[in-house]
Amino acid sequence: MYLTQGLHRALQQKPEALATVCGTRRHSFAQLASRVARLAGGLQGLGVKTGDRVAILSPNSDRYLEYFLAVYWAGAVVNPVNTRWSAAEIAYSLEDSDNRLLLLGDPFVAMAPELRRLAPGLRELIYCGDEATPAGMRSYEALIEQSAPVADARRNGDDLAGVFYTGGTTGFPKGVMLSQRALYVNALTLLSEGLIKDRCVGLHAAPMFHIADCAFMNALLASGSRHVFIPSFTPQATLETIDREQVSAALLVPTMIQMMIDSPQIDQYLLSSLRSLMYGASPISEALLERAMARLPGVEFVQAYGMTELAPVATVLPPWYHSEQGRPAGKLRSAGRATFCTEVRIVDPEDDRELPRGEVGEIIVCSPSVMQGYWKKEKETAAALRGGWMHTGDMGYMDSEGFVFVVDRLKDMIVTGGENVYSVEVENALVRHPALATCAVIGIPDPRWGEAVHAVVVLKAGASVSEDELRAHCHTLIANYKCPRSFQFVEALPLSGAGKVLKNKLREPFWQQHSRRVS
Ligand code: ATP
Ligand code: MG
Repeated sequence: MYLTQGLHRALQQKPEALATVCGTRRHSFAQLASRVARLAGGLQGLGVKTGDRVAILSPNSDRYLEYFLAVYWAGAVVNPVNTRWSAAEIAYSLEDSDNRLLLLGDPFVAMAPELRRLAPGLRELIYCGDEATPAGMRSYEALIEQSAPVADARRNGDDLAGVFYTGGTTGFPKGVMLSQRALYVNALTLLSEGLIKDRCVGLHAAPMFHIADCAFMNALLASGSRHVFIPSFTPQATLETIDREQVSAALLVPTMIQMMIDSPQIDQYLLSSLRSLMYGASPISEALLERAMARLPGVEFVQAYGMTELAPVATVLPPWYHSEQGRPAGKLRSAGRATFCTEVRIVDPEDDRELPRGEVGEIIVCSPSVMQGYWKKEKETAAALRGGWMHTGDMGYMDSEGFVFVVDRLKDMIVTGGENVYSVEVENALVRHPALATCAVIGIPDPRWGEAVHAVVVLKAGASVSEDELRAHCHTLIANYKCPRSFQFVEALPLSGAGKVLKNKLREPFWQQHSRRVS
């Protein structure tokens, strides 16, 4: 089971079909396969051996896809770098995973001297941007042109495919070791859930360094679909590209969906080609989901829940549970059911005892997609992986039909006066107010209650609302102790590179003099 399989099939079945579209650059499957085989040869020529890590720091592009395939083809291990990291963090991760080779894209060229200084193990920088190759770097295109193709290493299922870093939402990201099988099973999962169909045109709008887009990419590859790239998410680029390239499938995180449907430009574009929209990676409120479904009629919505450590999908809520007709009550709030090959349980985080249906506990997962471990972090690996089960650190419950409801991250749960308040539940209530674009709820220190519920709120353009009004609104929807005690109005929320709200950042100013139960 190896990740280049889809490319071999497409080459055999439809070599002349369009495989990649990146701005004005277009390649057929025959061209893609030839470039990948030569790039793999180039990498081997530069000394890359079986199992070596090769890193990339770049915005999304067709070359990012070629990088993934060529590294696998050469028998090596991918190591995509988070584009939001500082030079010091990038250098740390490059050294940590013994990378001698880095592919560098356009906006990051300025970082090169500092990276070389901070990561002395780095031997080669390969420039994979669109400008002239900077001095001291190797040209990506020249490497392809000048290298002879090599045979695909056709890795085994158990072989390490990549070291992927977690989103860094709750702390410094950890390197996650994923096998070829873990990633391939995930691709098949997305196919089996009907998200990707043959001859699909998939848009890479979410960052390609993140595991969510990687799974989407592997599913598109396995089905021989076309890949369309935009350098990074903006509502405008996403809308414009869906229209221009007749995109039929996309993967977006909830913040991106919110920005896209609230974009004043949305009506200027024809989005009728879009058939499926997969979302996940962070909680979505029912209010946002309903707004999105109303704004994008005819689009099949699919929710996925998972984490980097699961390559990443564990549960899926398929389109049928999103449709108005025949939708069983309450399922829209769920993250769906365990995908095939996956078992999900809800346990007491204290003693791993399985809990009865409906009771909130820690979500744990067993599947062929579970990580091999955290890169060079044995202690953290042993804590997270116990008896083959990945302990997600997410709290949730399961209903009688196996639907999983993710209520909060253990680290984001607020304990106020001995009561547990799930920040996500409060956010869902708050964001039902028509003046709100988005919000984040955090626990702040409180002398009497331990923690108090605090809401950080972003209003829609031109909207206004008072704290009292928001408080009254929450009282109509949730119990008194869950309602925010204080509010903070901001222009935008701090987001991670994967588009998730950095609640640590929001909490930081409040907790400087105190220590939190979990940080
Ligand atoms: P870090 O582990 O570095 O703090 P992270 O947990 O955000 O970052 P990822 O692996 O990208 O890194 O994200 C996995 C997490 O995202 C899950 O543990 C869960 O909290 C959240 N998540 C993913 N999908 C969903 C979903 N459908 N609904 C709610 N939360 C989700
Ligand atoms: Mg995590």
